[in-house]
Amino acid sequence: MAEIEIKNLHKSFGDFIAVKNSNLVIENKEFFVLLGPSGCGKTTTLRMIAGLELPTSGNIYLDKEDVSYLRASQRDIAFVFQLFALYPHLNVKNNLSFPLKMQKFSKKDINTRVLEAAKLLRIDHLLKSKVSSLAGGDRQRVALGRALVRRPKAFLMDEPLGTLDAEFRELMCLELRKLHDDIDATTVYVTHDQQEAMSMADRIAVMNEGEILQADSPNIIYNKPKTKFVANFIGSPGMNFIPVNEKISPNQSSVNISETTLPIPFQRGASSSDQNFLGVRPENLKLVSENGIKGNIFGVEYLGSRKILTIETSLGNIKIRVDSDTNVKINEQVQFNTLNNNQIIFDGSTDKAIASEFMT
Ligand code: ATP
Repeated sequence: MAEIEIKNLHKSFGDFIAVKNSNLVIENKEFFVLLGPSGCGKTTTLRMIAGLELPTSGNIYLDKEDVSYLRASQRDIAFVFQLFALYPHLNVKNNLSFPLKMQKFSKKDINTRVLEAAKLLRIDHLLKSKVSSLAGGDRQRVALGRALVRRPKAFLMDEPLGTLDAEFRELMCLELRKLHDDIDATTVYVTHDQQEAMSMADRIAVMNEGEILQADSPNIIYNKPKTKFVANFIGSPGMNFIPVNEKISPNQSSVNISETTLPIPFQRGASSSDQNFLGVRPENLKLVSENGIKGNIFGVEYLGSRKILTIETSLGNIKIRVDSDTNVKINEQVQFNTLNNNQIIFDGSTDKAIASEFMT
């Protein structure tokens, strides 16, 4: 289908920079997610790929062809705005035919393509039904079918599940991913919801303030975030950052934190600052009876089989994930330590991860 490349892509609105010199290669058949908080430039990036917005500078390539200044209609890309944007008074067949009629396809081709899309989406038995009479899931499939009949090289989706309730959203995530796999298309999907991103993506680009901070598989984004922002944005709760008041040197394998020595992965790099952070996920900390960092239980959140404890310490609040049969009371004094060596040291002056045995 299609490889999409963006090179030094930049977009300003007056003095405001919405997308800063971004570079990405989205591979053929990849399910690629642009993830980040509101206003970080996801939609602007997607609209430039679609041809709905022109770049201020930089280029977009579709299968190596420079399409940066081609109109949307010349790009062979389908933009799926909102999965519910259908014509409710028309039947399913007419809704699916519509984009092809607009493009003046022959009746025969329209019938072939509509039937093919309907079968793929398992709505071929509904072709004569009015869209207004359909259940939510079937309506979503019709909306997808509208993009599918064009057989585009790539699908671009901007928060397509944004308005749905949680349960339905989960189901549609699975359906979208399955559809993607069935048709072998390249998909670029925008969301601010990390769970959606983690569950569907082959790779995720985490954006903030117009910049792509990291583009990697969900597993690497979660376990080896390259910046504090990514580490905190991904995960619920996000990563803990424990202040480390010492300079980090190559070969260092422990740090001193509040009268406790904690092992860290063997460091390959050095910090430029002497105020750094030990990044550790809540599931990689454990309660201990001695030689730990001390604090008081401030909050307990039940999550079924697990609990998240918030521990108030002189270093700030730290979150730990424990089994739900762990017995602790609010205000109880506890100690905690690291469970394994899956920690990352972030440089206090750059907020970037320092290269370590764990990160490589
Ligand atoms: P959201 O999830 O809220 O849509 P986003 O990450 O998709 O966020 P964009 O819609 O790309 O963000 O917007 C990035 C920034 O650019 C925002 O601050 C937005 O206000 C600004 N922006 C977008 N379009 C325009 C425009 N046409 N004119 C001026 N500013 C714009």
